[in-house]
Amino acid sequence: MDIVNLSALEIKKKIINKELSATEVVKAYLNRIEEVEKDINAFISIDKEGALKAAERVDEKIKNGEELGSLAGIPIGLKDNIVTKGLKTTCGSKMLENFNPPYDGTVVERIKDQDGIIIGKTNMDEFAMGSSNERSYFGPTKNPVNNSLVPGGSSGGSAAAVKANEVALSLGTDTGGSTRQPAAYCDLVGIKPSYGLVSRYGVVSLAGSLDTVGVFGRDVSDASLMLSAIMGYDEKDSTSYENPIDLAFEKELEPTDYIKGMKIGIPKEIYLDEMDKRLIEQFDKAIKVFESLGASVEEISLSHLEYGLSTYHVISTAEISSTLARFDGLRYGYRAKEYSNLDELYINSRTEAFGDEVKRRILMGTYYLSQGLGREYYEKALKMRTLIIDDFNKAFKDFDVILTPTSPILPFKLGKLKGEPLTKDLTSIFTAPVNLAGLCAMSIPCGYVDGLPVGLQIIGGRFKEINIIKAGLGFEGGMKNGI
Ligand code: GLN
Repeated sequence: MDIVNLSALEIKKKIINKELSATEVVKAYLNRIEEVEKDINAFISIDKEGALKAAERVDEKIKNGEELGSLAGIPIGLKDNIVTKGLKTTCGSKMLENFNPPYDGTVVERIKDQDGIIIGKTNMDEFAMGSSNERSYFGPTKNPVNNSLVPGGSSGGSAAAVKANEVALSLGTDTGGSTRQPAAYCDLVGIKPSYGLVSRYGVVSLAGSLDTVGVFGRDVSDASLMLSAIMGYDEKDSTSYENPIDLAFEKELEPTDYIKGMKIGIPKEIYLDEMDKRLIEQFDKAIKVFESLGASVEEISLSHLEYGLSTYHVISTAEISSTLARFDGLRYGYRAKEYSNLDELYINSRTEAFGDEVKRRILMGTYYLSQGLGREYYEKALKMRTLIIDDFNKAFKDFDVILTPTSPILPFKLGKLKGEPLTKDLTSIFTAPVNLAGLCAMSIPCGYVDGLPVGLQIIGGRFKEINIIKAGLGFEGGMKNGI
């Protein structure tokens, strides 16, 4: 049995049934990392000692007949913008190269409470700004599907680590698509939960009104397992949702039972000129799978979808310019060696430690918020955000889920879009509107074209995770059965 090929749920079952020990599992994963990591660069740091200790604790619990948590012995990777006590948290930036947080984020506490094993911190675009993982201070991550391709971003390290079997599950973040897009490029399931479902306490902010913690798994059940372990109310996050929700992922139903009678909307606005035509063909095939499983599929209109990307751009950069003001060279993070007054300390520290993309976004956000222009850009963007939310609300009155491609383009070669920030931004065209509206969505593999993986996005209403999970389970089952 090759341990690293097992699903997270299988690992957990085998540990509980004493077919495997947690230590054996962790060692198998650490060996795998040793083997492949030099070609992938999925991690910024690996906590070998901590992982082995955590595994020992799980084994001890089993020996004592204690009850185990839902993530018992499962090796997990965390994006490096999720703070971990005593374990370096860099956000992929020189600014935080040596930052050792004094506390664990809520999601980290929950993983530990559920007996999950944290293997290490994964590579990412600097401060989660990007779509290719080429903007990390620690070098690019490569796509395990094909090493010459980008893994997507900004949670590309978390996606690559799962795809390369370096961990069984991982966490990313998703502000405009950063979990779904790398899931699509690495042929994985990625879920972006509804805004407020998963605590952001201890997650370094990019744009606070859009940020969410996302999950990666090799299939829908694994990703749902990860989500169910970390979701739920947290008094430390003022935007946390108080009501409990149910995810029915472990019930053993036939796929058709999930999909039969489901109402699915396809926005007519997605058929853009910028779309890769091969992707459209694959998308149309996916729709047929849902139809043949008994869903009713109808065309809908999200008439403001076309403004989603520019709205996201203005709101996110405005929030970024304010959020990143905290990195001033004084409190924590990088401090320039040379300066002769306070202003110079700020300027030199930020100039030396931030990469180009971070600077570009801070500048743009500052511009959009500057006196006189706030009305012109920022307020207009807020109004457009409301119209986008209204479009979705209307659609979800009649439909259970909405389908779109995850990305309008296929995974591209490393370096290919260097110097083309706008083309890269385009990859968020179908994902960013979901963040603007606070909804949940999943990217799920829907086949390959020319050897490149394609992701399908399943969008659900706010806190209707159950719908995207059912649709995902059904679709996955249908694909497996060759429907
Ligand atoms: N690619 C998007 C961006 O660069 C998404 C970022 C994210 O979700 N963190 O803004």
